[in-house]
Amino acid sequence: MVTKIPFSRPFVSGHEQEYVLDAIAQKDLTGDGPYSRLVIKRLKEITESRSILLTPSATHGLEMVALALNIRAGDEVIMSSFNFVSCANAFVLRGAKIVFVDIRPDTLNIDETLIEAAISAKTRAIVVMHYGGVACAMDEIMDIALRRNIYVVEDAAHCISAYYKGKHLGTIGHFGVISFHSTKNIHCGEGGALLINDKQFVERLEIIREKGTNRQQLIDGKVDRYTWVDIGSSYLMSELNAAYLYGQLHGLELLTKNRLDNWQLYYNLLNIDGVELPTVLDDIRPNAHIFYIKLADGSVRDKLIEYLEKHGIKSVFHYIPLHSSTAGKEFGTFVGQDDYTTNESERLLRLPLYFGFEGVRYVCATIESFFQ
Ligand SMILES: *Cc1c(COP(=O)(O)O)cnc(C)c1O
Repeated sequence: MVTKIPFSRPFVSGHEQEYVLDAIAQKDLTGDGPYSRLVIKRLKEITESRSILLTPSATHGLEMVALALNIRAGDEVIMSSFNFVSCANAFVLRGAKIVFVDIRPDTLNIDETLIEAAISAKTRAIVVMHYGGVACAMDEIMDIALRRNIYVVEDAAHCISAYYKGKHLGTIGHFGVISFHSTKNIHCGEGGALLINDKQFVERLEIIREKGTNRQQLIDGKVDRYTWVDIGSSYLMSELNAAYLYGQLHGLELLTKNRLDNWQLYYNLLNIDGVELPTVLDDIRPNAHIFYIKLADGSVRDKLIEYLEKHGIKSVFHYIPLHSSTAGKEFGTFVGQDDYTTNESERLLRLPLYFGFEGVRYVCATIESFFQ
């Protein structure tokens, strides 16, 4: 019988049911309830962020940032094209034009040395996505942004328990988002958190999240009734999701250690001809969200996917560069040379990695046999 190895499997800590059932028993599942407060308390301990709002998804967090920054038609936002669609969409929804720059081949993150040349008088923000929980060069990026008076938004969707020079990812730029989608290290099906690091935006973001009302000020006892004061929408996480997420958080340390161990085992065992391993950097603490390898080119990659599939192993690739997608062509432009974005994305392959995964040796042996 062929072993069946899925690419990913959502984490279960064992505490989720207890909290979800308790939340149901409390009979009020609207957002910002007791479980949301517990999750925020725990996330603040983990990240040392002072201001966190739970959202229905990281995507919604990015949309809230675009609203808070008053992004409008004609504005430009810089990001890498090897990226997830939400980074671009959140700003395109407000009318912005996306300016794509190339990535670094070692981390597949935005190449910080190319950002300055992409800045124009219309540039409002740089969105940096920390690929697989490996940090972008935040010191250099923040330096550019502060000098040029541009906001930095960290897409830390992959990054729970991942750090740069001791700082949790998502806490360094003006804003950061973390995702709790079921494909991420810990999850609640769908969910996210918005970290507000520039405190001048806290009050406005609370209003944007509460349908454009100052309801939070009523809850905080600052006003005696609440009204419509600004644009906004409904960006609250349900208590059911928060209760599930609180259960997940109990297992975070165990989960991260297990992922890092499996990541290291892949790294040690795949030191073979034909396989290019990810680069390990100083000054960062990753969370093993992704283990990827790079092959000689796209055709070797596709043959390996097929070979692994035949041996019961599901492997996947991403991202189709945004600038070469239908919407990317309409809403963005690539500035400078595409030296790495297209090439690296064509030869990248992600290997199975999830909590409790015991098949690393089998996957590596199968990859070795492919090259023989
Ligand atoms: C998953 C992901 C998102 C979106 O997260 P949601 O919570 O599903 O909205 C954004 N950016 C990156 C890089 C992601 O991988």
